[in-house]
Amino acid sequence: MSQSFHPSQRTLMGPGPSDVSPRVLEALGRPTIGHLDPEFIGLMDEIKGLLQYAFKTENELTLPVSAPGSAGMEACFVNLVSPGDKVIVCQNGVFGGRMKENVERAGGTAVMVEDEWGKPIDVNKVADAFAQHPDVSILAFVHAETSTGVESDAKALCQLARDNDALTIVDTVTSLGGIEIDVDGWGIDAVYSGTQKCLSCVPGISPVSFGPRAVERISSREHKVQSWFLDMQLVMGYWGGNTKRAYHHTAPVNAMYALHEALVMLKDEGLENAWQRHQLHHKALVAGLEAMGLSMVVAVESRLPQLNLIAIPEGVDDAVVRSELLSRYNLEIGAGLGALAGKAWRIGLMGHACNQTNVLLCLSALESVLAAQGAAINQGVAVPAAMAVYS
Ligand SMILES: *Cc1c(COP(=O)(O)O)cnc(C)c1O
Repeated sequence: MSQSFHPSQRTLMGPGPSDVSPRVLEALGRPTIGHLDPEFIGLMDEIKGLLQYAFKTENELTLPVSAPGSAGMEACFVNLVSPGDKVIVCQNGVFGGRMKENVERAGGTAVMVEDEWGKPIDVNKVADAFAQHPDVSILAFVHAETSTGVESDAKALCQLARDNDALTIVDTVTSLGGIEIDVDGWGIDAVYSGTQKCLSCVPGISPVSFGPRAVERISSREHKVQSWFLDMQLVMGYWGGNTKRAYHHTAPVNAMYALHEALVMLKDEGLENAWQRHQLHHKALVAGLEAMGLSMVVAVESRLPQLNLIAIPEGVDDAVVRSELLSRYNLEIGAGLGALAGKAWRIGLMGHACNQTNVLLCLSALESVLAAQGAAINQGVAVPAAMAVYS
């Protein structure tokens, strides 16, 4: 006989999904209603308003795509890139590589600007690329590279794009709710995010927002968008501003309750307060890790508070440490990706998971697992070092 599935209660401190708040889980279990029910349409409007708050934008075309962050990425590229378009794609980690793939599949040409993994995007190199390719019409980059824990200067990159008459596509999957994003202030034209990182909602939804210049580009397309599902002209008829909604697909109704609850929580806390909370717990975590004798991979000025890259000490077995943390402490941390595989761990402090209890759990669990592995670490000092930051 088949049985119900009952997952363990984990603490999620990896690159996502992050811990989902009980309030959000409770919202998921509320009665399902029709997706064209007037009550649901009211909820859709509220979600749009809350997303405008979170992104700091007045963009009319701000909505949650009914699919994960990767679909938000694809939605931006398929709608804005037409066959023959030239796009500068910055790559300093895994996700820039996916942007390149998206440009090429939409029939465009990607001009790659590459930086070392673990370093931010070099704005000067992007300026050089614009100078060499005056026909570029879009600049695409990742604000918060989850694969490396690095923040790039989104504001400066958007200004550079404006100066060169290019639109911007910005990945804020890991930034939204964790660090400052100012879509209107920075002049971002198209932005996508995800629900499972610092919004601490269930995975599977991707908030997106398109500014006036992007909407104009979409409306004047000569080629049909190759994706039917992600064609914003069609999606707009479903999520559009008026009360008459045309059936396009069935929104994941209960997941939208969860997103709404997560956004209400973010607004109650206040964006700035959420950013400060991420900074505080990041500082405490780093103080503890460094006291233990571990070292951070990313330079102080470009570290993401919500995603911390720690160098794996000599002689320590990466996979054993992570599996011991999971089996003994129910604690998930992330492995390194790509160029950093086997060299670094990724400790997430995202959204609801970004709190003092988790910081102290992570430090003490890591200390005991590393000590059992015979790693040369300083014992008994990590938790006091973190506590010193809190007091
Ligand atoms: C997680 C992530 C994505 C993809 O989101 P999914 O929800 O996994 O599809 C894209 N970009 C960045 C920077 C991410 O961290």
